[in-house]
Amino acid sequence: MNLHKLIEILQVQTVSYEQFRMFAKIIREVKSIRDCNFYTHKGNIYVTKGQADGYPCLVAHMDTVHDIVEDLTAVPIGGNIIGINQATMMQTGIGGDDKVGVFMALECLRLIDPIKVAFFRDEETGCEGSYEADMTFFENCNFVLQCDRQGNEDFVVDASGIELSSSKFQFQIGPLLDVFNYQMVSGLMTDVMALKDLGLSCSAANVSCGYFNPHTAHEFVNIDSVEHCFNLVVSIIDQMGNIKFPHILKETGYWRNSAQNQWHAKSLYCMDCWAEEPTANGYCQSCNEYYSSMTGCR
Ligand SMILES: [Zn+2]
Ligand SMILES: [Zn+2]
Repeated sequence: MNLHKLIEILQVQTVSYEQFRMFAKIIREVKSIRDCNFYTHKGNIYVTKGQADGYPCLVAHMDTVHDIVEDLTAVPIGGNIIGINQATMMQTGIGGDDKVGVFMALECLRLIDPIKVAFFRDEETGCEGSYEADMTFFENCNFVLQCDRQGNEDFVVDASGIELSSSKFQFQIGPLLDVFNYQMVSGLMTDVMALKDLGLSCSAANVSCGYFNPHTAHEFVNIDSVEHCFNLVVSIIDQMGNIKFPHILKETGYWRNSAQNQWHAKSLYCMDCWAEEPTANGYCQSCNEYYSSMTGCR
């Protein structure tokens, strides 16, 4: 793993709605990697390396929650990296969420062939970029991994109630997770969840990538944990990168009010009896029949 590159990426300042520095940095990096084709669409970046029928895929988000300050210096200290504003000598969030994910995606792009990688804007404001994803890009993806989870042991298979992968995918990946001391857990909203919500037809997961205390000035990145995650991701792609793991979301579970940029729980059960599967109008078959027989209409 290239520590110098990690520090370089961590020093790029980026915040939601002002991520052009990171955008430009990524484009420059991608252009320096052989055999890469990229395009941008609605502020997101899509990269394909090599040629294959199916690709392993990594995604990351380009924004952080940390405001742009006079200076951001990444300071390695005791195996960790923190952010210091040299102008004030105050600690500031280093933005490992999700610069570590950006680093991971770029490193994999350098090392692995074939591979697809996508970078999304404005995840922190409600997955705005990924909700406008070009879904055709993902049609030939075998699975999609995102490194956008704090810590060093979580493999998120379920995000905000949205199932991200098939049992086959989880079964296949289990032994590798054991080797790397990762556990399958439920997690929160992030880009892979948005992609599933939009109908992504392969399995996906969100992986702990070594940042801690995200969204605070005390955030730090643990170098060993980043390397550990990198090795896990490379091993996954090595062992199963060329296998397609289809997975279709059976029931969305949530719907998004884009005007308010909020998520609302949608019941997995009939709104009335909470016992059976709902039809399109939210009521189950038997409740529909019951009520329509009462009112004479539907
Ligand atoms: Zn975040
Ligand atoms: Zn994040």
